Amino acid sequence: MACETLRHNCGVIGIWDNDNAAELVYHGLYSLQHRGQESAGIVTADNGHFYRHYGMGTLTQVFSGPDAIAKLKGRSAIGHNRYSTTGSSSHDNIQPLVAELRDGPVAIAHNGNLVNTRKLRRKLQEDGAIFHSTTDSEIIVHLMARSKHDKVRDKLRDAIKKVEGAYSITVLSNHALYAARDPQGWRPLCIGKHENGSWAVASETCAFDLLGYEYVRDVNPGEMVVIDENGMEIVPFAKPKKTFQCIFEYVYFSRPDSRVAGEYIDKYRRRMGKNLSDEHPAGDADIVISVPDSSNTAALGYASQSGLKFEMGLIRNHYVGRTFIQPTQTMREMGVRLKFNPVGGVLNDRKVVVVEDSIVRGTTLKKLSVLLRQAGAKELHVRVSSPPIRFPCYYGMDFSSHGELIADDKSVEEIRKHIGVDSLGYLSVERLLASVPQGEGIGYCTACFTGDYPTDVSEEIEYESKLRYSTKTGEET
Ligand code: SF4
Repeated sequence: MACETLRHNCGVIGIWDNDNAAELVYHGLYSLQHRGQESAGIVTADNGHFYRHYGMGTLTQVFSGPDAIAKLKGRSAIGHNRYSTTGSSSHDNIQPLVAELRDGPVAIAHNGNLVNTRKLRRKLQEDGAIFHSTTDSEIIVHLMARSKHDKVRDKLRDAIKKVEGAYSITVLSNHALYAARDPQGWRPLCIGKHENGSWAVASETCAFDLLGYEYVRDVNPGEMVVIDENGMEIVPFAKPKKTFQCIFEYVYFSRPDSRVAGEYIDKYRRRMGKNLSDEHPAGDADIVISVPDSSNTAALGYASQSGLKFEMGLIRNHYVGRTFIQPTQTMREMGVRLKFNPVGGVLNDRKVVVVEDSIVRGTTLKKLSVLLRQAGAKELHVRVSSPPIRFPCYYGMDFSSHGELIADDKSVEEIRKHIGVDSLGYLSVERLLASVPQGEGIGYCTACFTGDYPTDVSEEIEYESKLRYSTKTGEET
């Protein structure tokens, strides 16, 4: 799915007690750019003052001015890369959000989607709350503002106990850096420490590697982390229960060089490729290629298990960021060719296994199959390292309606015909689950494959059907 419009939700990072807090957060966000490219922002705290710089676009677009980082004073900072899932893509929704509470300012950066926000927002508005954005993250701020407690940690705990769904958040006050992960553990969040005593929290450990912080451990589901002048303290805020980590973090979202529970994502993704090879061998194929970059690791696993040679049959142009693509007619016509170029010498007269991590709409694979055949491929056998996506995600992935999903109303054979390949095989849910970490209390959300939503999503489904109705009738929802 390296190239369709399946996008991540967000990346968050926080640094506590370092001379170069803003600069470190900037570079950390750079490592997390894959999680969101729509907007970026950093907030720092310095002797009672908060400094903020934010804007629409990728990190380098937002922080292009010479003083953008220099003006962010202070030894602590949080940052956010956003891809909008709840709330529209607008300036008002850029995070970190900053709010003045009774006892001073706080900034919040949130990764994930809350699922009971419509009722909560309505209730807060009836009580007089005025919202400045349409993002669900602002609900947490309003709930904190209404808490009777004095300490920020207690206000935060009060607020997050009232929300449901996916959240991995960082919060900055004048006195501490906080991080919290929802009790189901949908989105990742981890803790790092520098040898100079500084602490960090981030969505993925790849940010720590760049900044020279050592990965300490994950923030476990239902835990809040408080980092202040006394050090780091773990404060559980919910009873341990079965987790529902998003299995798509392992399939596609997280970088293969990031670690979860101490192990690299790379290991699990290779395992998916191996299991895929066992489930769907490709007979007398000659080579295995990947749709770069996100499918590279699974393709390596497939190749090693099948004994087929892994080749670079498609070259991706890394300088075609989606924010730079203007939808002109010429560019639309170039389509997928702008992003991928097949290597004729590798593909010519070969029977090719093409490993892809997921298929959402199938539009890119359909175009790629034409390109690969034009480059001389004799046969195309597509192998997908996740099951067919049949159901919308209400926890952060950017497709949220049935109509967008090719597997919603098509069988595997119909999809094969649609994308124009010789064979098509998907990894089963069982073998996908067998590829990821197991243990007591560890569970996964697989709702986009199975339709088994771990929480009540009736509000979202009702909203989606109203939206469908209003699109047909032109009414407002
Ligand atoms: Fe992840 Fe799919 Fe569950 Fe969404 S529905 S949280 S993408 S596993």
